[in-house]
Amino acid sequence: ESQLNPNYSFENFLEGDSNRLARSAGLAVAAKPGGTSFNPLLIFGGVGLGKTHLAHAIGVDIKDKYPEKTVLYISAEKFTQQYIDAIKKNNRNDFIHFYQIIDVLIIDDVQFLSGKTGTQDVFFHIFNHLHQNGKQVVLTSDKAPVDMQDIEQRLLSRFKWGLSAELQSPDFETRVSILRNKLYRDGVEMPEDIIEYVAKNIKTNVRELEGAIISLIAQSSFNKKEITLDLARVIVEKFVKNTKREVSIDYIQKVVSDYFQMDVDTLQSKTRKRHIVQARQLAMFFAKKFTKASLASIGSQIGKRDHATVLHACKTVDNLSSTDKQFRKYVDDITKKLSV
Ligand code: ADP
Ligand code: MG
Repeated sequence: ESQLNPNYSFENFLEGDSNRLARSAGLAVAAKPGGTSFNPLLIFGGVGLGKTHLAHAIGVDIKDKYPEKTVLYISAEKFTQQYIDAIKKNNRNDFIHFYQIIDVLIIDDVQFLSGKTGTQDVFFHIFNHLHQNGKQVVLTSDKAPVDMQDIEQRLLSRFKWGLSAELQSPDFETRVSILRNKLYRDGVEMPEDIIEYVAKNIKTNVRELEGAIISLIAQSSFNKKEITLDLARVIVEKFVKNTKREVSIDYIQKVVSDYFQMDVDTLQSKTRKRHIVQARQLAMFFAKKFTKASLASIGSQIGKRDHATVLHACKTVDNLSSTDKQFRKYVDDITKKLSV
């Protein structure tokens, strides 16, 4: 099972200045897997800009051109989980062997490997084996290799061997084409000025761009209303607001310290008073849970601690919330506050 989604094709991946390099490199790799200098091909960029789509498109195209090749798409998270399971079952060698005989290995969101030294180690060996044997590796990440944290140097240097291609936010024209293409595929008609209104106002995330259109269509059909510019305004505003409210580490520290009725300076202070230590550990735990920041970056933002302290905090919170009822309540209460 290759795990590929055929809807995520090159054909459906609209080209623009923002993605031309990555898209072309993807096509080149798909034409000659393992046979270009783009090995690995690393596609990086922010949330909702098409990394997963493009990663699938490469796999789908290769399967089409070379049905005999084994192509596997997997998220780094799932890869990590499989590895942990393999260790538990004493199957490390089988795990490695399984991955070493793949022709095209596509791993999505490799930033997830940050801080996971065991998984990085096993991936390093798999990568070397595939690369030496002329097999293709495709990776995606939310950051460029230079900005990745808590990834071993030897692995980072491998990431830089091939080509790193960035997906940027699409320009207005591309956003309009993406929307038109989506509406066309769904068989929905929409006035041009509304398409343009949505494309003009949602700029940084293709997933949200599509989400706004989907919600517009749904609203109009549930309420049997025409799709008007006014309706579009209401919906776009909701999307834009939601994006701005994304949780930041600052916001988490504020919510946690408010909850314990202390100020943020106290939460960050060097004190060893138990209730303050716990508040700080909770802030670290939620920062890990709700943001994409690395352990090192969380530590530096929450009172200048190192990544080991953050890791320890996360483990402590995990332990306490399964053994201590009162503590469990803290976690649940704060989770609720952060989720509204
Ligand atoms: P990421 O993995 O970078 O977070 P995704 O690949 O999940 O982003 O893309 C989010 C949504 O946007 C998907 O539905 C995808 O099909 C769509 N999308 C992104 N870029 C394009 C594009 N250039 N053309 C068409 N659809 C796109
Ligand atoms: Mg993705």
